[in-house]
Amino acid sequence: MNPEINVMYEKMKARLEKVVPDVELRYKAELAVEINALKKEKNAVILGHNYMEPALYYSIPDFVGDSLELSRKAAQTDKDVIVFCGVKFMAETAKILNPTKTVLLPSERAGCSLAASITTEDVRSLREQYPGAPVVTYVNTYADVKAESDICCTSGNAVEVVNSLKSDTIIFLPDEYLGSNVAHETGRRFLLPGAPLSANEKVLIGWRGRCEVHEKFTVQDITTVRSQFPDVAILAHPECSPEVTGASDFSGSTGAMIKYVRETIAPQYLLLTECSMGDNIAAENPEKDMLRLCMVRCPHMNTITMEDTLNALKYNRYVVEVPEDVRLRAERAVRRMIGIG
Ligand code: SF4
Repeated sequence: MNPEINVMYEKMKARLEKVVPDVELRYKAELAVEINALKKEKNAVILGHNYMEPALYYSIPDFVGDSLELSRKAAQTDKDVIVFCGVKFMAETAKILNPTKTVLLPSERAGCSLAASITTEDVRSLREQYPGAPVVTYVNTYADVKAESDICCTSGNAVEVVNSLKSDTIIFLPDEYLGSNVAHETGRRFLLPGAPLSANEKVLIGWRGRCEVHEKFTVQDITTVRSQFPDVAILAHPECSPEVTGASDFSGSTGAMIKYVRETIAPQYLLLTECSMGDNIAAENPEKDMLRLCMVRCPHMNTITMEDTLNALKYNRYVVEVPEDVRLRAERAVRRMIGIG
């Protein structure tokens, strides 16, 4: 084996021995060496979301993290090319923050059920219904929807963003469950459009978007696991239903979950989130007992492979573009969020 590939194989094996079959590791190590060489040649940076498959996650990204962490990295990079191993709305955010750089998304099919749940017309109609109410949009939206909003948020800073706004009525789009969880944490009532408002009441007006992965977890899942492992620490992503986050021990963004597992001691951990994220945390914490309840791999994140990442660098594809008028308005909302934390 070529010595460079051997070094990569050993590095990946140290992390992934229990997670990825050996034959796959050897093949992926070869791919990783090829990708990293091209990355250098093209002066590119690779950003890898926490939901990337473990072999990719632990070999080629210069930075890994959740949407917020990667937005910050995208805003700081001095490389000519940004390859975003994540989904389209994330690559668009990188382009919004780096208009002069080439942003590549390795798969054209990497969408998101949340981003697809809302349009610019929907946001304009909500503004008409609730005049003067500021609009907060989750970063899991497309650039044109971000452009219609006052400020963006991620699951990691949504509470801070909402608390930074003075208005009694705030429009929070498009994730119904995240909105409901944030309303609970900020002492607001969560309502869907059309529900009557009471005078002087602090409310969060939401939308019916759902993450097709996190909506699948149920309180019954938690009850079943707790009956077998009474002291298990259960962590739920805030895109899970309020009933599920309420029955869990901790709810936080993917970044916050990683920190929680790193910094706490429990006999077992159960992560109610995307499968690959669970694998990546298990690989990073081999001494901890991670229970698996992996029902759903995000079909959109799953379209990003190492083979496609190699082709993205080789053939300069798929280039992400955002029309300049949209970009400028969306940038205001994204930078306002980054300014908050
Ligand atoms: S995990 Fe959910 S929110 Fe994230 S990209 Fe997939 S569908 Fe969208």
